[in-house]
Amino acid sequence: MRITALAGGVGGARFLRGLRTHLDRTPGLDDTELTVIGNTGDDISLFGLRVCPDLDTLMYTLGGGIHEGQGWGRADESHRVQGELAAYGAVPQWFGLGDLDLGTHVVRSQWLGQGVTLSEVTERLSRRWGLADHRVRLLPMSDSPVETHVVVEDEEGQRAIHFQEWWVRHQAAIPAQRFVAVGMDRATPAPGVLDAIRQADVVLLPPSNPVVSIGIILGVPGVRDALRGTAAPVVGVSPLIGGLPVRGHADACLSAIGVEATASAVAGLYEDFLDGWLVSEEDAEGVRLPRATVQGRPLLMTDRDAAADIAGAALDLALQLARR
Ligand code: GDP
Ligand code: CA
Repeated sequence: MRITALAGGVGGARFLRGLRTHLDRTPGLDDTELTVIGNTGDDISLFGLRVCPDLDTLMYTLGGGIHEGQGWGRADESHRVQGELAAYGAVPQWFGLGDLDLGTHVVRSQWLGQGVTLSEVTERLSRRWGLADHRVRLLPMSDSPVETHVVVEDEEGQRAIHFQEWWVRHQAAIPAQRFVAVGMDRATPAPGVLDAIRQADVVLLPPSNPVVSIGIILGVPGVRDALRGTAAPVVGVSPLIGGLPVRGHADACLSAIGVEATASAVAGLYEDFLDGWLVSEEDAEGVRLPRATVQGRPLLMTDRDAAADIAGAALDLALQLARR
């Protein structure tokens, strides 16, 4: 079987690690190939280095190197380089860059500087983490740089800032007026992205941020059409539990685009291609969708087993829908 998923960082990565666990321990499913299309709208250049936060979170989580407590960055990390940068007064200081993590960004930047595409760079980096051995293929949504910027307004006036500055530095506390995916007009899907959607047996949307993770990937020309046209059932998992994001500020992102923070309204963003929608049990009663099948169940990924159960439920729903 071939499963394709669209994913942001922590929410996507934990779900997909659960999915891989579920597949590996289910007889007949262990040879399933999983293709992950990662959001690159969070990417940023810092200190001359190209940083791809969501791709790295996916790679470290699926490859066994993630900092479990944080959900992003490397396990057993230290911050000596960052201390040196601060001693020189180098800015910005609000973005955490660990020493081990910096190794990834240095290598990535070197290869990109040599003209290697981000897809190829991602494949080379993933090799070290053994993703292919786990039947996981990690693709950036696009090889062209796309950066999510946020139009904000406060006492300093109206301006656009990088998504990371809004999210990490300001903790999404300055009201966002809108998001602009800079570079999207010139972007094309990375090699393999559209085929992975068209040729999948199942397409899954993990509980990633619907606006700045999944929403950005859906903006890559051709991706949305591929989802509408694929023969595979498309099943999503709600990132909201009782109308609140489990972590992060998805509610602030939804309010910026004028969408209510409810499981129904998030599904509405995927209305034209969504076949199944997994929501938290307490939300299930209020969700009525014109064309997607809704199922309620516990959706908190408290640990790897809980994530595996949720992913298994999403896959089962997709397989039921496929047989129709
Ligand atoms: P990011 O790029 O690191 O922000 O990660 P994603 O975009 O992949 O995922 C962020 C979303 O994951 C947030 O909106 C959270 O509400 C959601 N999320 C995180 N943990 C859980 C969980 O245990 N269950 C569910 N249903 N959603 C979760
Ligand atoms: Ca992200």
